[in-house]
Amino acid sequence: MHFLAGQPTPPTNGRFFEVYSPDTGKLLGYAARGDASDADLAVRSARRAFAQWSALPPGERERVMLTAADLIEANAHCFQDLIIDESGSTIRKARFEISYSASLLRAAAGEARRLYGETFPNDKPQRISMVLREPLGVVVAISPFNAPLVLLVKMICFALAAGNAVIAKPSEETPLVALELARILALAGFPAGTFQVVNGFGAEVGAALVNHPHINGIAFTGSTASGVRIAQQAVTHMHRMQMELGGKNPLLVLKDIDPVQAANVAAVGAFFHGGQICMSSARIIAEREVARPFAEALAQKATRLYLGDLRDEQTAYGPLINQRAIEKVQAHVDDALQGGAELLCGGKLHHGNVYAPTVLWEPSRRSAAWCSETFGPVVSVVAVDDLDAAIALANESEYGLSAGILTNDLQRGLSAARRIRCGAVHVGTHSYQSDTMAPVGGFGMSGFGRSGGKYSVEHFTELKWVSIELGETPNPF
Ligand code: NAD
Repeated sequence: MHFLAGQPTPPTNGRFFEVYSPDTGKLLGYAARGDASDADLAVRSARRAFAQWSALPPGERERVMLTAADLIEANAHCFQDLIIDESGSTIRKARFEISYSASLLRAAAGEARRLYGETFPNDKPQRISMVLREPLGVVVAISPFNAPLVLLVKMICFALAAGNAVIAKPSEETPLVALELARILALAGFPAGTFQVVNGFGAEVGAALVNHPHINGIAFTGSTASGVRIAQQAVTHMHRMQMELGGKNPLLVLKDIDPVQAANVAAVGAFFHGGQICMSSARIIAEREVARPFAEALAQKATRLYLGDLRDEQTAYGPLINQRAIEKVQAHVDDALQGGAELLCGGKLHHGNVYAPTVLWEPSRRSAAWCSETFGPVVSVVAVDDLDAAIALANESEYGLSAGILTNDLQRGLSAARRIRCGAVHVGTHSYQSDTMAPVGGFGMSGFGRSGGKYSVEHFTELKWVSIELGETPNPF
């Protein structure tokens, strides 16, 4: 199904596709395989809803969003099962997605009242100039599979708070979570058409939405390759774009730190959700004094991770999303080993579609495992002589999403943070961090635009200069 104009709606072409659990292989259900006609229906209904939603007083939009946050928590059990089954998440990750989604909606609700404009002085004394902030209109949010609830909520909540209507196109791997979200938002009181879900494949209905002339903005979270394709299309219509793309995130381990303590932190950064996290700490650059003991401690920690039932609290992570992902991860590992890397642990499937936590020592700096996004539980560790070399190597990447620096030496940590070219640098921890109000986004091929708090609101609104002439202006002719 889609969720259009306030209700579950079958695709106009009558076509559906199967949705399977990456963990058990079980058939979970069917989702609509939408096309351009569904995209058009959604846009028409969103345009109508936009007029209604954007005209509501901000306090009313805030109330609906706060209700949505409460309802997400009240329906946690339902979301939990869907997130676990559809995306192969552990129960702990599913719970994090649910509670953080509620936090995001609450943070965004407050932004409905903060669509501030301003006035400014100008050289014509008889003129008053003001800047008004207005919602864009219809925003398309295209989301990835790896965190199917929280990433979608993150993309839509500030857009909705600002008065936009939103059409979501979730990943074809995880269409059911998005439908449940649509059901809950409708219950919360969003007018029909304000939030809609169009299901299907990127190249079909996704592309149709991107190319629709009557949308106004796009929020995309996904791979760099898809982001580039979408941006090329979107620019022909001058759609506003926000691109949150892939990463190959560096984690610096400085010589003052205890290697075992550092390994425990790095393991979370590298292996959370099996490395299927855009900000996961995949490239570890350690000062030589601690590099090898750190790498060995990390391998020991990795080998001890419990990889059991997804509903077991102790399970560290679950399966890779599909066969294509397994093949990509294996190809990166094999290529690194052929290029001279040492395998400290892992290197193959653990069971089912769950890939064993893998630590590579000194892969070639031209290998895919070092340079390209693996999106699996594979982490590389290399040794460098000093901090300058660590920073230079961290910056030797086309990506620039997030970085971590493990040190207790704040002076070295902060000076490194200022020199690393990434959208975020976290001193004292790993690269995977979140905060509802922080400007999240990347440098380089990790994308452009920032999401979170007022930064999202800036993205999802237009500025308009309005002036008033209070006196006679001299006429030049
Ligand atoms: P993907 O790029 O394969 O798909 C993402 C979405 O884009 C899906 O909904 C897909 O259907 C759609 N899509 C693909 N091609 C399209 C097209 N031509 N037109 C319109 N829509 C299209 O990504 P994925 O495999 O689902 O997710 C993993 C990727 O997402 C990783 O690269 C990861 O780093 C990235 N990611 C980034 C962030 C971030 O905040 N920067 C967060 C999470 C994931």
